[in-house]
Amino acid sequence: MTTKSKLLLVVTIMLLGLTAATIVNIALNFREYSIKSATDKAEMAANIVKDGITAHMVNGIMDKREYFLNQISSTGSVEFLRLIRSQGVIKQYGDGLDKENTKDTIDEEVLKTGEPVEKITETATSTKLRVTIPYKATSDNTVASCLNCHNVNKGDVLGVISMEFDITETRNSGMMTVLKILGINLLFIFVVLLLMNYFVTPYMKLFSNLQEGIKKAYSGDFSHEFVSNVGGDAKNVVKQMNSLFSKMQETFGDIKFNLATFIPQGSVSISDPLHEAKTIISELSDIYKFKKTIELDASKSDVYIRIIDILKLKYHVGHFAFYEVNNVTSERKLIYSTEEETICFEKTNKNAMECRAHRTNSVTISTEFPNLCRACVSQNLDYVCIPFNINHDISLTVSMTSGNRDEVDLMKKNISSIRHYLEAAKPVIESQILMEKLRDTSLRDGMTGLYNRRFLEEIIDKIMSQANRNKETYAVLMLDVDFFKMVNDTYGHDVGDKVIVALSKILKNSIRESDLAIRYGGEEFLILLSNATDEGIMQVANKIHSNFAALSFDVGTSETLKKTISIGISKFPTDGDTIWKCIKYADTALYEAKNTGRNKIVEFKKDMFKSGDEF
Ligand code: GH3
Ligand code: MG
Ligand code: MG
Repeated sequence: MTTKSKLLLVVTIMLLGLTAATIVNIALNFREYSIKSATDKAEMAANIVKDGITAHMVNGIMDKREYFLNQISSTGSVEFLRLIRSQGVIKQYGDGLDKENTKDTIDEEVLKTGEPVEKITETATSTKLRVTIPYKATSDNTVASCLNCHNVNKGDVLGVISMEFDITETRNSGMMTVLKILGINLLFIFVVLLLMNYFVTPYMKLFSNLQEGIKKAYSGDFSHEFVSNVGGDAKNVVKQMNSLFSKMQETFGDIKFNLATFIPQGSVSISDPLHEAKTIISELSDIYKFKKTIELDASKSDVYIRIIDILKLKYHVGHFAFYEVNNVTSERKLIYSTEEETICFEKTNKNAMECRAHRTNSVTISTEFPNLCRACVSQNLDYVCIPFNINHDISLTVSMTSGNRDEVDLMKKNISSIRHYLEAAKPVIESQILMEKLRDTSLRDGMTGLYNRRFLEEIIDKIMSQANRNKETYAVLMLDVDFFKMVNDTYGHDVGDKVIVALSKILKNSIRESDLAIRYGGEEFLILLSNATDEGIMQVANKIHSNFAALSFDVGTSETLKKTISIGISKFPTDGDTIWKCIKYADTALYEAKNTGRNKIVEFKKDMFKSGDEF
């Protein structure tokens, strides 16, 4: 029901109620008035009859009373008129005329009580008023004294006068009056409603127009134009609303445009621009905090941990893997995974090009096409894989998995938001990579690519505590080229450099990933073998020794150069309780090798110390 209908209905009900109350009131008053008036008339007529009869009696013409009674009876509204004699009068004067002896219960009652009775009998078509009054004996010492003629006492009931009047006409005229008033009232109500409708309709239209505009505004649409054909204050309201809305629309347009420069438009899928602005600002604030935090992180790994935390804590991703891809070699490194086995590690760890997301540099969603990524080995898990390029060297891949379609839908919804975080992390990761490179340069020897002595100094404490914690052992191998000076002196430094580079390659190829090869000084190298058996240690030492001895160096002339190395070995913790001590002992063993003819491998023995050498 519209507001207008409601308003009209309420007014109609109120006016009808008022009319009904008025009509009932008028009808009741009219009835009371007409009854009172009829009763008064009837009483008067009855008294006239009484006085007329008395006059007949006084004048001694009682025998002529019938004419008088007939005259009264034939009056328009008199239905009947009768006189009823009391038993005393009947006894003294007989039954009297016909009209003087008809009785009913009312007559009997008035005869008996001496009290007048008035009674109205209403039917659908007529209304009758019956008036019965007593005729009591009076004594006032005049000729009219009843006691003069009647053998009765003063106040005795001599008879009753009963009359009935037809007051139907009075009632009908009352009803007609009421009906006329009702008609006038209904006409008035109708006119009021017409006028109301005429005046209220434009306001109602304005009201619903305002409602419509405000409803649109609530959902962020301020394009509504308010119109009204009502003048005065309403016109001003419409003008002000239109100016307010156009300002709002302009302002939100600006906000949206400005926000879009921070976060691509449409990335937050909310149709309400106000809500969208709020969401984008809160997203921007979160990303800003994230960026400020990672800017102070010490390493690339720390930044990666933050991204992993965001995936877990902000986006509540239950199952995912986070990879770093070397763009140059296409090698892929698993940084973190919630599962022991990822859905595609088997195929992609060696060659990231097997990963569809990385290869196409586009988000890969399994629900879009059956078996979308060929590298996925899982049959029952869906995946959303987001590739993200950091720079020429490095890319990241976030691979989220789930067996639940609702979860996958949520992942899809969060893609652009997750990318915003990666975007925020990108410059920080780039600068961390640069820092790592710089750091690596200062810790590596430029000519051989091996770690340098500074690296050893930085890492040795870490190695020691890790070794003590995990009960790890280390073999320390100190290597030195025999008579190297002679190479430089005879063939020049370039050849000397070649020999050093060749030896470093042999070292790299002879050790495992968990071992370390360090250029300790000039043509002196240090190797740390972790958790190696005595046999294993000797195998590595022999392999290096023989591989190097087998090399022939081109010195630019017809002759070729062959060189040998000497190796000193000590073991941690068997020989010394610190790595530094063991390095010293390996050096002692190397010295021993040099002293006893060179081109040999010597293991450290306690008796190699000359007095004063121990620490
Ligand atoms: P020994 O058998 O006792 O070890 O005799 P050696 O001649 O090898 O003596 P030593 O190990 O003391 O010689 C080190 C020489 O290595 C001295 C230095 O000129 C040379 N050298 C150090 N660094 C480099 C380098 O980077 N390039 C070249 N070409 N020579 C280097
Ligand atoms: Mg040497
Ligand atoms: Mg040397």
